[in-house]
Amino acid sequence: MPENLTGPTLRRIPGLFEEVKPPLGDLEAVVEAERCLRCGGPYASAPCLRACPAEVDVPAFVGAIAEGDPGRAAAVILEANLLGGTCARVCPTEILCEGSCVLHHEGRRPVDIGRLQRYATDFAFGLGLKPRKVARPNGLRVAVIGGGPAGLAASGELAALGYDVTVFEARREPGGLARFAIAPYRQNVEPIPQEVELLHRMGVHFRFGKPIDTPEKLRDLEAHFDAVVLAVGLGQDVEVKYEGDELEGVWDSLVFIEALKTGQPPKVGERVAVIGGGNTAMDVAREALRLGATEVTVLYRRTEAEMPAFPHEVAEARQEGVHFQWLTLPIRFLGRYRLEAVECQYVRLGEPDASGRRRPEPVSGTEFRVPADTVIKAIGQRPRQEFLAWVEGLKLSGGKVEVDPATGQTGNPRYFAAGDAAGGATVVQAVQSAKAAVRGLDAYLRQGVGA
Ligand SMILES: Cc1cc2nc3c(=O)[nH]c(=O)nc-3n(C[C@H](O)[C@H](O)[C@H](O)COP(=O)(O)OP(=O)(O)OC[C@H]3O[C@@H](n4cnc5c(N)ncnc54)[C@H](O)[C@@H]3O)c2cc1C
Repeated sequence: MPENLTGPTLRRIPGLFEEVKPPLGDLEAVVEAERCLRCGGPYASAPCLRACPAEVDVPAFVGAIAEGDPGRAAAVILEANLLGGTCARVCPTEILCEGSCVLHHEGRRPVDIGRLQRYATDFAFGLGLKPRKVARPNGLRVAVIGGGPAGLAASGELAALGYDVTVFEARREPGGLARFAIAPYRQNVEPIPQEVELLHRMGVHFRFGKPIDTPEKLRDLEAHFDAVVLAVGLGQDVEVKYEGDELEGVWDSLVFIEALKTGQPPKVGERVAVIGGGNTAMDVAREALRLGATEVTVLYRRTEAEMPAFPHEVAEARQEGVHFQWLTLPIRFLGRYRLEAVECQYVRLGEPDASGRRRPEPVSGTEFRVPADTVIKAIGQRPRQEFLAWVEGLKLSGGKVEVDPATGQTGNPRYFAAGDAAGGATVVQAVQSAKAAVRGLDAYLRQGVGA
């Protein structure tokens, strides 16, 4: 092919819902599973298992697939992680299980653990397999506030121990950010309904469209339940105001993603600017390309080295054609009715700030414009401080609930917290902290019962 035909115009941008990690077929799954060296043994567990925050026994489930038994593989996965199907799609496997696969040492591609996990859990959901044994009812009641990943994982683990669990979710649908924010090319809806159905069959009660949004409702829960799990996540995008915010084409990241994940994809125009340097910024940049933008530029006020996004996310965005403009501080949005440009200023990096990263200092006289039809602010989420203030005795640090990491217990002994509200940042961390909170809650209530 002549060289001038290999440029960006030939790049194929996948569709919005086209999965970046499509499912494996039966034969592909067995062949892939057979690549596993089954490392680990009685004296040391395998590195992939150690790297999994949910402690899924990867060699065991991959081995079951290689032996042609995906049902057994699914049972191994769900024993450790009731959201194994969601995690199979959304986990940053590149820095977790697959990142630690020993095949790397031989310069080979790691085992495709995420897709194998999906293969096994899809198989199980297809057959409607019962996931976990449930202990006899222990007569104790637990309220879980929030039906996102942390709340769902906690509710299932509690039900397995015999608790009478009710999940109160503000929205009419479960899943939290996994349903409404995680990029649709990783996960749109599936398999959240199947996972919730499994929990339902384990005895979990769900109250959708039931926000706990007044101090009175919280007091009511305290009166009727023995303990409460706080799994409320974080709130909307942090409020960073710019002149020109009212222009058409100016979006907050979560509103933007929710619109496209619920069937109302925003019209982005040709040129899109994204403000921020985290994983959400990478997601919206790639989503904008899939919505038809031809030029997407990430504006970030530090350099690539300070970006909070995972390096593999940055690399993937770059491969798809996203541009990066470093050391750039957006100052205002320009246009008559619709956005036409983002005015920016260059910065230099000064002394480290409280986060330990070098502080960006604007350089006067360096103003310039980035033409854009759409700008998406992806700067971070707000903590749910107003709600958290209603819980007596709760201690917060940086807006997040302070917990004992081993037990999830908060400053109020009857409250346990998990997920993003307690400092997590991924679905698998939500599962990990939910498991810790359930262990802590169980030990606390059993102590009370025996006393
Ligand atoms: C854009 C974006 C992309 C992401 N991509 C990934 C990814 O690819 N992989 C990954 O692992 N993680 C990803 N994450 C992070 C992941 O989604 C979160 O870590 C995870 O969802 C946290 O789960 P949670 O249950 O703690 O909170 P949430 O998912 O936020 O769920 C909290 C739930 O609580 C409900 N709630 C809140 N307050 C109340 C109340 N007072 N009463 C009743 N209900 C209430 C909310 O409606 C919500 O459903 C992404 C996050 C964002 C923002």
